Order: sequence, then structure tokens, then C-alpha cells
Amino acid sequence: MGLQYDTTAFDVSSSTEPSSVLVTGGAGYIGSHAVLALLEAGHRVTVVDTLVRGHRRAIDVLAAHGDVHFVEADCGDRGVVLPLLRERAIDTVLHFAAYCYVGESVQEPLKYYANNTGSSLRLLMAVADSDVSRFIFSSTCSTYGEPGEDRLPIGEDCPQRPINPYGRSKLLVEQALSGFAARRRAEGRRFACARLRYFNVAGSDPHCRVGEVHDPETHLVPICLQAAAGLRDSVTVFGTDYGTPDGTCIRDYVHVTDLVDAHLAAMAAIEPGGDHAWNVGTGRGTSVREILDSVRRVTGVDVPVEQGARRPGDPPSLYCDPSRIRDDLGWTARHQELDDIVRTAWDWMQSHPNGYD
Ligand code: UDP
Repeated sequence: MGLQYDTTAFDVSSSTEPSSVLVTGGAGYIGSHAVLALLEAGHRVTVVDTLVRGHRRAIDVLAAHGDVHFVEADCGDRGVVLPLLRERAIDTVLHFAAYCYVGESVQEPLKYYANNTGSSLRLLMAVADSDVSRFIFSSTCSTYGEPGEDRLPIGEDCPQRPINPYGRSKLLVEQALSGFAARRRAEGRRFACARLRYFNVAGSDPHCRVGEVHDPETHLVPICLQAAAGLRDSVTVFGTDYGTPDGTCIRDYVHVTDLVDAHLAAMAAIEPGGDHAWNVGTGRGTSVREILDSVRRVTGVDVPVEQGARRPGDPPSLYCDPSRIRDDLGWTARHQELDDIVRTAWDWMQSHPNGYD
């Protein structure tokens, strides 16, 4: 594709000129890190977040770092979003807002389809009536389902056959977004989109301004660190009988600030008519046991571990081939060492034992 960072195709190339950016889910874990980076790059930021899983205190922190206009609303609320897109002359949307727990999605599938798919479709319908020209969507490696051994590491052309409602809820949005982009292209309208397929995001802002706070917390790295901090008794390993070298699931852990950098790179590079899918990961597979080992090295605490049953919806092995995003955008994860990722998450937890409270 030969994309370049410094495109002149958009009037508002983020590498040179400030953009007006809508960040959905900007009070959440990844969204708040993205807002910080956008502010530091000089962009004008509007955040829409329901605060169901996002944090008002995160918005307070972000507002201290620049011009953030915050609206408490569902990103699918057309009556709120369309006037915002127009009045704030939004040219770029970074769409993070979503529920993100694989296990919960198996228990409550409709909640995932309604929120992740339904709200996204309504957001796109508002975008269709606006001058937004760039849309970056937070997709997921869960859309790949359970790739066979011969498909690892996962490239973007790996068939997308999700095995849980979370992955399906995101894949539907990818498909709708691609369909919309094709329509814009056919009409000669300026529009480009990127579907970023995140692998497992971990870590925190190195200055601990924002960090990972979920309630309930279900993600492996913060759960292990909570155990190390004495905030929970033990960690349950979900399945030790997978066909992986140590029997536990393998994932590709990418640092949140690296992931955010990928968004800024995509924003700057995509050109009208473009519709891109990029995997965002390190390319390195790490097992649950290896995470526990890293937590022991970083914290000095040997957390008590219990062996549990497999968690429904969990594929055994997901790690990516990140060469497409490297070749197209020049992006590679700067945090290659697992301990460095875990250390920033630990720093955040130690400085914010009660989250934002
Ligand atoms: N996991 C685990 N115990 C936990 C939480 C997670 O063994 O308390 C495992 C989970 O089964 C998966 C990996 O850790 O194999 C990463 O799970 P997480 O929920 O962090 O991210 P996901 O891969 O579901 O997006």
C-alpha cells in the first residue's frame, strides 16, 4: 500500500495540522490514553462516554492537560452526536467505546450486540450525515476466533470466524464500516477508515496520569497485580490443559501507549478512499504462566495461583504477525519486553490502589 505518514491528501493531516477529533469511550482505559496523546500532539478533542465503564475522574485528569470537551452520552445517541460532529467540525472519529469482556459476552450476548454493534451502527449513521473524513475503529483479535496452528502468527488475511459474542459484535462493525467506506468511495466522498485489530492491551501511562481501572476487573495482568498488591487472595488460571507448551492460553500483550501510537500513525496516513485492517500487537506470544512469572519478577511477590476450568469463549492461542502495520505505517511496538509492560501497570496500581478514587 505504500502509505506515508505525511499525506497531503487530507486538509487536516494530523502530522502537521491539528484535527478536531471525537473520541468515543475517552473516559475508559484505552480511550483516556488516546486523549492524552491527542492533546500532546495538539489536537482538539471531544469525548463522548456514558461513564458506565468510563471514569469521570479520568476526564478531570485529561482536562488538566488540554482542551477536552466532554459529553456524557451514548455514542449511538444521534440527537447528541450529530450536532457535536457538526458544531465542533469533527473530521476524525476514534471509536473506542465498547464492552470488552469475552466471558461476560458469553453470559450476556445481547448486551454486547446492543452496545458494541448497535451503538456503533447508530454512530456510523450520524457520521454518514456529517463531514467526518477519517474513522478509526477499535476491533479485536477476537474476530479471528480460533485460528489453526498453521495460521499462527495471525495475519490480517486470516479468516475472521469469531467464537464468542464479543468478537462477533466487533466483526459486524468492521463489516458495516467497510460497506460504508465503499459507498463513500463510490459517491466520490472523502472518507477513509482503519480497522485496528487489537491484541491484548496492558500497561499504563508512564507518568501514571491515567491507567487501567475496570470494575469488575477480569483482565489477566491487572488481576495478577491486584493479587500481588494484596487486593485479592489468588489468581485462577483458566485452563491448564490447552495444547500449548505449558498448557495455558497464549496471547500477544501490547503496551497501551504503543497501541495509541498506532492510532495516531493511522490517522496521519490514511487517505481518502482507504479502508485498512491492521493487526496491532508485538508478534510475541505469552502464556498465562509467563505473565505470572513476569509479575513475580516485577513485584517480587509470588502470587498464589489456583488451577481452574477453561473459560468459555477463550481460544488457546492468539498472537499476530505485525508486519503489515510495520510496512504500511512504520509502526512497531516500542515495548517489546513483557516486564516493561507489566512494570508500568504495577506503577499505576501502586500509585492508584483505589483506581481514580
Ligand atoms: N485469564 C486467566 N485468569 C484470569 C483472567 C484471565 O487465566 O483471572 C486468562 C484468560 O483465560 C486468557 C488470558 O488470561 O487466556 C487473557 O485474558 P484476558 O481476560 O486478560 O484477555 P482476553 O484474551 O480475554 O481479551
